[in-house]
Amino acid sequence: MPAVLRVALPVPLPTLFDYLPPAEGSAQAGSRVWVPFGRGKLVGVVVEIDAQAAVGSSRLKPAIRLLDDAPLLDAELMQTLAWAADYWLGAPGEAYANALPLALREPRPRPAIGDEYWSLSAAGQSAHDAGSRRGGSKQLLALLAERALSAQELTERLPGWRDASRRLAAAGLIERSERPPLNHALPASLPPQLNDEQQQAVAAVSAHLGEYQPFLLDGVTGSGKTEVYLALIEQVLAQGKQALLLVPEIGLAPQTVRRLRERLGVIVEVLHSNLSEGDRARAWLRARAGSARVILGTRSAMFTPLPEAGIIIVDEEHDSAYKQQEGFRYHARDLAVVRARALNVPVLLGSGTPSLESLANAEAGRYRTLHLRARPGAIRPPQVQIIDMRAQRLEHGMSPALLAAVAETVARGEQALVFRNRRGYAPVLLCRSCGWHPDCPRCDRPLTLHAGRRQLLCHHCDFRQRVPVACPVCASADLKPQGQGTERLEEALIAHFPQVPVLRVDRETTRRRDAFEQLLATLQNDQPAILVGTQMLAKGHDLPNLTMVAIVGVDEGLHSVDFRAGERMAQLVVQVAGRAGRARKPGRVLLQTHQPEHPLLRGLLAHGYAAAARELLAERRQIQLPPYSHQVLLRADAPTREPVDAFLAAAHAALPESAELQIAGPMPAPMPLRAGRHRGQLLLEAASRSVLHGLLRPWRLALTAMPQARHVRWSLDVDPIDLY
Ligand code: ADP
Ligand code: ZN
Ligand code: ZN
Repeated sequence: MPAVLRVALPVPLPTLFDYLPPAEGSAQAGSRVWVPFGRGKLVGVVVEIDAQAAVGSSRLKPAIRLLDDAPLLDAELMQTLAWAADYWLGAPGEAYANALPLALREPRPRPAIGDEYWSLSAAGQSAHDAGSRRGGSKQLLALLAERALSAQELTERLPGWRDASRRLAAAGLIERSERPPLNHALPASLPPQLNDEQQQAVAAVSAHLGEYQPFLLDGVTGSGKTEVYLALIEQVLAQGKQALLLVPEIGLAPQTVRRLRERLGVIVEVLHSNLSEGDRARAWLRARAGSARVILGTRSAMFTPLPEAGIIIVDEEHDSAYKQQEGFRYHARDLAVVRARALNVPVLLGSGTPSLESLANAEAGRYRTLHLRARPGAIRPPQVQIIDMRAQRLEHGMSPALLAAVAETVARGEQALVFRNRRGYAPVLLCRSCGWHPDCPRCDRPLTLHAGRRQLLCHHCDFRQRVPVACPVCASADLKPQGQGTERLEEALIAHFPQVPVLRVDRETTRRRDAFEQLLATLQNDQPAILVGTQMLAKGHDLPNLTMVAIVGVDEGLHSVDFRAGERMAQLVVQVAGRAGRARKPGRVLLQTHQPEHPLLRGLLAHGYAAAARELLAERRQIQLPPYSHQVLLRADAPTREPVDAFLAAAHAALPESAELQIAGPMPAPMPLRAGRHRGQLLLEAASRSVLHGLLRPWRLALTAMPQARHVRWSLDVDPIDLY
């Protein structure tokens, strides 16, 4: 009887698929195969080979072709992926699809892993001499006229060079070649003398190199966490091992790459979603081959093969960007811990505002906590002051005290940040005669006014329309923006401080690739400036001349229905406030609120994040919420309400009987309508994770088979981080 291949295919079904082996080659677990599926063909990964043919194997189809002689995914990754698919109740095939770069999910030969180099052709040399091109093309020609450059060097010296390279290559002016990866060491710079706490942290982790041990590195922004990472990576490299460092956002990558490379003197391989597919596959394959020693990436880089793993580091571990919110809903931080165990290496989770999950793990003794309390770069922690907005005359949401503080800051030649976590001009446009306001027809939520674009925009579904000149209900022309977004603050600050540059940083102003980097570069100098921005600015950029931060409003976070709102608000306040402390000058933070007496806010300001987090944890424990209980959320949506209700009712009826399972719903989602789809959910909770999984595994299979499931889009979210 022939052996049967169990193959994971990139389809949202909870099963593996059986095939007969292809005519040629001997398939192994971890190899890719190209197989017929339905009316098409798919690339899958062989998960296991069953020597005992399954029942009815005569009906099985043979695989078309084996794509790898040796397994592409090693045993550790295969084991971790199987674990991940099971834990996040995902489709196995989708877990494998997440692990493989897109270019490796196609039935084509693997890209060569040499470095990509570009040089001028003879025609290119003449074009350069004649100066016949413009803009990016001209710059690229000029760079290559000096010498051939690697893709990585080009990315650093000319952001956006890829577009120019396509044009010039098509015109035959430049040529591409492969060279073996560069292995010689680059010059490295000297580390600072680490302070006592940093030394202790490094020593604690390095004592565990070569074995599994999770650490929580708890230190505010500027406390020197990155220096600790660098020292540890250096040790790992000296042992001939690989280091994987995760950051939450691509925006943080270029700065970090530069810092890693300058200090360590090695090539840093980067893996994130902004790379071209070819580059991404090459980086992944170099990590697999072991030639990539230091790998820096965002969420999906957690699936990088690490045959010679030495350490895994997750920076800003509390960041919600580590949770994938669609398809295969894994959490990269949790996966980091699982992989570290499988690889027998220490894992270091760093944050100035650790997640309550990690704090609970530390409290339970599963993680060891390392503290960095001093701030080597700063004179002293910033002074925080609350401004009670209730008794104030506000100018576009800003109090006189806030404006005065901005004025003093720029008068001293320093920079101020005005923080508001809302894009656009105003969250609502209101008719003052009758109270009407425009809602998104597809979401039932107010449209945000974007004044510069003369548009009303839905931040949930991107629906847009022109700004009406009069109220459609009462015809009054008295339409007034209510509340403030960053665009309005920018306008008000420009009017108030005409001589000072005002820079707005949000998704709108930084949509263009590298725009954010360029904006930040203009702030590295010592000129006075005012920054207005959203969350994007809360992240770890070093702005040495920024000494004042004003948070325009924190009240939304104080009365949200989401049980995580308090934690998020505390993290955001601390992270944003941290922007004021990186300077070698004393920093100042102003916090505007309508609720100056709110216990969470008071606690946070009086005793800091650690104390506030302890309070929040105690609350969670008392009312048995995560991390002291475990949740799985079933979401469903459809163009009408009825199939959603029918599916959730059937799902509810199919739940196993258990005293340990708590069920909330079926109920409408907190946003019952979004992008024209009606949404509902069923929340399942249990005190024990294994009990919850044990009950829900068979249920998950039953859901797939339900006739009602065919009329909705549905998903399961294990450990959801919001109940949206
Ligand atoms: P974090 O990662 O916690 O935000 P960094 O490691 O980036 O902190 O350190 C903040 C600043 O302080 C950086 O400019 C860094 O070079 C500097 N720094 C860190 N540790 C030391 C030290 N031991 N001596 C001098 N400067 C230090
Ligand atoms: Zn009206
Ligand atoms: Zn909408």
